[in-house]
Amino acid sequence: MTSVNNTIAQLTLTPVGDTADSGVCTSDLVKSPWDLDTGLPSYGPGSSMDDVAPEDTPQQGVIPEKYRTADDAELDERIRAAQETLGERLVVLGHFYQRDEVVQYADFIGDSFQLANQALNREEAEYIVFCGVHFMAETADILSKDAQKVILPNLAAGCSMADMADESSVEECWEQLEEIYGTEADSEGRVPVIPVTYMNSSAALKAFVGRNGGIVCTSSNATTVLEWAFERGQRVLFFPDQHLGRNTAKALGIDLEQMPLWSPAKPLGGNTPEALQNAKVLLWHGFCSVHRRFNTGQIDKARAEYPGVNVIVHPECPMEVVDAADSAGSTDFIQKAVAAATEPTTFAIGTEINMVNRLADQYPQHTIFCLDPVICPCSTMYRIHPGYIAWVLEELVAGRVVNQISVPATDAANARVALERMLAAKP
Ligand code: SF4
Repeated sequence: MTSVNNTIAQLTLTPVGDTADSGVCTSDLVKSPWDLDTGLPSYGPGSSMDDVAPEDTPQQGVIPEKYRTADDAELDERIRAAQETLGERLVVLGHFYQRDEVVQYADFIGDSFQLANQALNREEAEYIVFCGVHFMAETADILSKDAQKVILPNLAAGCSMADMADESSVEECWEQLEEIYGTEADSEGRVPVIPVTYMNSSAALKAFVGRNGGIVCTSSNATTVLEWAFERGQRVLFFPDQHLGRNTAKALGIDLEQMPLWSPAKPLGGNTPEALQNAKVLLWHGFCSVHRRFNTGQIDKARAEYPGVNVIVHPECPMEVVDAADSAGSTDFIQKAVAAATEPTTFAIGTEINMVNRLADQYPQHTIFCLDPVICPCSTMYRIHPGYIAWVLEELVAGRVVNQISVPATDAANARVALERMLAAKP
């Protein structure tokens, strides 16, 4: 069988398809994240570097030189010593998309849904250090107890997709929809529109859906959440990821013509009143730049080179890619699908490269490679580095809390309503 590492290297050197930004990711990624903190409008090198960052995107200040110049061994020693000193007062959570140098320090690794549950249930920890991105740390702050403090090691670790829907654009959209649909429920008690936000959104938007009868979803439970929404509403406004919304609604049998795209800069989102009247799911014009890189040409190539290959993709990928794959699901789904294979299998996976490489290392009996031939990690996940972790932990040991993520109380209360609806809707 082809060795896993050779397989990845071979595909890395052979770009396929016509992705607009293929090739932009490799050279700058060898730099340390503090060298990349060049300010707006860039998210830094990686898959979302070409997306425009909003002006209010948090920026990370300069951390002390000792953390920027320490080698891996010294950072490892500092981090482990601080973890030992803090003991049960500390829990470190890590997302699947974080690099190995980071997740080695995590007490728990998971997807955004699993990490939200961890934040809810780790009541004994005074500090939750969140190795993920900004919206995840906000969610942890909303779900954790008031006395717990959530810390994001690098404030520049945002999410370009989450930034594609801001509160004022969604409020404007909502006003226009109320003019078109009114606010009265139909004879079955279903209101005109239920707002559904993907977990990958700001706390302000989770609060918006909470106070407007809506709900949060993740890629693990989007089907259940849409079913929940259609029991209560005639249609759904889904943001910010159009692809997860489209893929999930299509699987529920909703016609593509009943899923207009809402472009926030245009009146009525760029739609006619008739198209909106006919709509079942209004899809916000947002996307993940990591998952947008995958295309059907890559799947065709994988199938030609590896007959019998099992193609699994994330539902943030475009619809044609999900349709051409053997299966699609959340990071947890992908992880479990690989773990469940009892015979040596070739997997071509369409999700973030750090997770794919980790699966390849964990399951050497299989051949596992990323569908995207160019190694291009998520720009913002990449901003977390052991240097920042050592800094925040040693500050905690010294009795100082830095980089705390704190959601305003009113937003937190409303967002919690929407998150609790999601946790209750779990099948
Ligand atoms: S992988 Fe995509 S959705 Fe996830 S944090 Fe990065 S940009 Fe956001």
